[in-house]
Amino acid sequence: MSARPIRIGLLGGTFDPIHIGHVALARAAQAAYGFDEIRFLPTAISWQKGETSTAAHHRLEMVRRAIAHHRGFMLDDREVRRGGNTYTVDTLGELRGELGQDAVLVLLLGSDQLRNLATWRRYRELLALAHIAVTRREQISLARLPEPVEQLVAEHGRDTLPNSPNGAIVFFGMPFVPVSATRLREQLLDGERPRAVLPEGTLDYIEHHQLYRPAGGQR
Ligand code: ATP
Repeated sequence: MSARPIRIGLLGGTFDPIHIGHVALARAAQAAYGFDEIRFLPTAISWQKGETSTAAHHRLEMVRRAIAHHRGFMLDDREVRRGGNTYTVDTLGELRGELGQDAVLVLLLGSDQLRNLATWRRYRELLALAHIAVTRREQISLARLPEPVEQLVAEHGRDTLPNSPNGAIVFFGMPFVPVSATRLREQLLDGERPRAVLPEGTLDYIEHHQLYRPAGGQR
């Protein structure tokens, strides 16, 4: 009997900062697909969002601490080490090369990112390297997707995650977690302390390093 191929979930993002929505997404994906591991992949420079407001080493460290006690969650810092603009297609190509042709790789996305997908560099190649699993984020609908994305879903959408290494788009549910990093940064700048929407230890890290303060207080 052949061994089940390894199943890896991949959660990219700016994580500026990591919040409970990211962790909830990873947990829901873990429950839905039984991943052997989920890798958190902080971007270097997001070509869509531009410079992050916080240096990469802080974003990495906040992720490292936030996921430290979750079995199967790992930090993968390759995008920051690679530097420059981060393109997911490059990351998936590297991972496929390292993990082999049989590994089941699944890119995890919130619905906001699915809606954007046709703007990503070489987006059609993503499915030649991995599956894509999508969950609905708060108010961001999965209906009436932009035309090229709709076509991709029509062609690649499946009801369940296949055991093949790549090529399907699947959907999973999670409870809505109404938090975004943009809103969080605004709250922190206003002097609020939104502890409830940050993973344990994150607010203390932010305060210790004086992150998300008005100009000059960080890095
Ligand atoms: P920003 O507000 O700066 O755009 P963000 O909160 O969207 O940041 P990212 O790091 O860009 O955070 O998100 C990484 C991934 O996590 C994306 O696929 C995004 O859709 C998903 N995600 C972020 N917040 C949530 C949430 N509250 N619920 C579900 N998915 C989320």
